[in-house]
Amino acid sequence: MSDDFELETLAVRAGIHRSQFNEHSEAMYLTSSFVFENAAQAAARFSGQEPGNIYARFTNPTVTVFQERLAALEGAEFCVATSSGMSAILSCVMGLLSAGDHIIASRSIFGTTVQLFGNILKRFGIETTFVSLTDVSAWQAAVQPNTKLLFVETPSNPLTEVCDIGALSSVAKQAGAWLAVDNCFCTPMLQRPLDLGADIVIHSATKYLDGQGRVLGGAVLGKKELMEGVYGFLRTAGPTLSAFNAWVILKGLETLKIRMDAHSQNALALAQWLEQHPQVDRVYYPGLASHPQHDLAMKQQKSGGGILSFDVKGGKDAAWRVVDHTRMLSITANLGDTKTTITHPATTTHSRVTAEARAASGIGDGLLRVAVGLEAIGDIQADLARGLNA
Ligand SMILES: *Cc1c(COP(=O)(O)O)cnc(C)c1O
Repeated sequence: MSDDFELETLAVRAGIHRSQFNEHSEAMYLTSSFVFENAAQAAARFSGQEPGNIYARFTNPTVTVFQERLAALEGAEFCVATSSGMSAILSCVMGLLSAGDHIIASRSIFGTTVQLFGNILKRFGIETTFVSLTDVSAWQAAVQPNTKLLFVETPSNPLTEVCDIGALSSVAKQAGAWLAVDNCFCTPMLQRPLDLGADIVIHSATKYLDGQGRVLGGAVLGKKELMEGVYGFLRTAGPTLSAFNAWVILKGLETLKIRMDAHSQNALALAQWLEQHPQVDRVYYPGLASHPQHDLAMKQQKSGGGILSFDVKGGKDAAWRVVDHTRMLSITANLGDTKTTITHPATTTHSRVTAEARAASGIGDGLLRVAVGLEAIGDIQADLARGLNA
């Protein structure tokens, strides 16, 4: 399907290849391998002369539908589906970089990505410099002759800082490096990084793309030539998305537009309510006029998205009181689910960061992060009010 269609149409229909049975809903192909008509066809498939499926570590028809649909949504030439968001980031780096190469990454990226870059890749001779997400001059200053990759998430977790993708894309181009954007928080329904100048989009499909907290998955997207390197790593090393998970996420994509709109609407209403609450010091949400990068966010994103954070007056004790007074909200670090989740970053997702580093990055002891779900906004507010008013 072409660019002529709107995103909500592509989400429902892009990538469909019906089998001989003309099934309406996409079929799930639970098979590890595929058979050939004869020896010559087997040889032609293996040599690449004839396109087609060989073995599910390489391709599977259900996974292919998912890849084509997500590529259409991101406006990408090619999509490589992976078994999780982390294996998407790993496949991207292992497929495109070598020992001696250098990465510049935002300091406020997913904690496990920091571990991957800072500890594991380092052992294989790939060094990473971490810089402030929003300070473009710091990115510029960190460029080295061997810099190959710039890596960001925007908005960031948990403080929802927003960076200018276009400005970072200029830094990357001048450096002869690629810009990769982890688009997990926004999804293509709210932000399309490739349109803004990024070279690579990364997804943890585990979050909003599935949207119902059922399976793990991931994806790397970009120009076909670039993605060939990523795919080469995937088919050899094997962090492939399963057909079952691809099918589940495919069904998630069909409702992505209406879910992202509803998540955003609920999050904005909650952010406005929290901003007025006497027990709340500060609310972090790109959709609020008080957000420091509100104008940039509204230029770059269709809406503020589903995730917000706020500082409760009274530090850790007060924040824990809010968590412990909830009856409905799920106390978990996951996000992008229909169910609202609440987490205290300082003692969970960011507990391995030193207290000084946490303070420097603005993650205080009173900070709570809420990934706003699709429940009635009044019920979400009532659940938070109990602890805030205690
Ligand atoms: C969850 C997450 C990941 C990792 O994804 P998994 O599917 O858990 O491996 C990467 N980036 C961001 C922004 C995430 O939220």
